[in-house]
Amino acid sequence: MTLAPDRLDRFARHIVLPELGGAGQVALSKAHVVLVGCGGIGSPALQYLAGAGVGKLTLIDSDEVDLTNLQRQTIFAEADLGKSKAEAAATWVQRFDGAIEVRAITGRLGRDSAAQHLEGATLVLDGCDNFATRLAVSDACVALGIPLTSAALGRFQGQVANFAGHRDGHSCYRCFVGDAFDAEDCDTCAADGVLGAMAGWVGTFAAMHAVRVLVEGHAALGDPQWGKVNLLDGLAPSLRTMRIVKDSECRGCSAG
Ligand SMILES: [Zn+2]
Repeated sequence: MTLAPDRLDRFARHIVLPELGGAGQVALSKAHVVLVGCGGIGSPALQYLAGAGVGKLTLIDSDEVDLTNLQRQTIFAEADLGKSKAEAAATWVQRFDGAIEVRAITGRLGRDSAAQHLEGATLVLDGCDNFATRLAVSDACVALGIPLTSAALGRFQGQVANFAGHRDGHSCYRCFVGDAFDAEDCDTCAADGVLGAMAGWVGTFAAMHAVRVLVEGHAALGDPQWGKVNLLDGLAPSLRTMRIVKDSECRGCSAG
């Protein structure tokens, strides 16, 4: 597969990077990323994934755009208030790059719907706001053999990691957080607050991590750093990394 001349121009600053190159750009153009959550993390992640030329995007969110979202959810404007976030995000993508195939799903993923909507994805990027969905998404990714970029945010803190729990010896998101959070929980942003720019840092970091996965085997940048959780601290500021080992008792990724 080769890229058309206008696409070569559009992605020239990528292609000139030795760590990405033409092969990496082609891999991005063939990728299908499912974005779970089009909010504070999903907005900047979507902008950079669309900008990177990811060929197909599925956007999932159950919420509507609310006035309190505009402080950090950068793809939405006042004209979007009350609209489905997934639909408004898809409209943003269509205006940005008509060559991207985009699909919007307004709804919340549960255990059954996760498997249905994630099947066929090259990568799932989860930036949703509750643990029940995160765990359902993680378990579905392991079952379907799909890599997961997981990103979370609160106040001035963020976490971003790539997981490949479907591969031998690799941990999954459930190995990281355990089983305690399967129950529904609240939107912590509403209770605790979050600095808007912190969502930008976490979302763009997640987009970079997603790109690492998408070009694995095609470009030098393709080192996904599986199972390494990056802890972003916006107050210090600092960035720490910790490795999550596979839990042999994990309900998500360990047989038995
Ligand atoms: Zn696991």
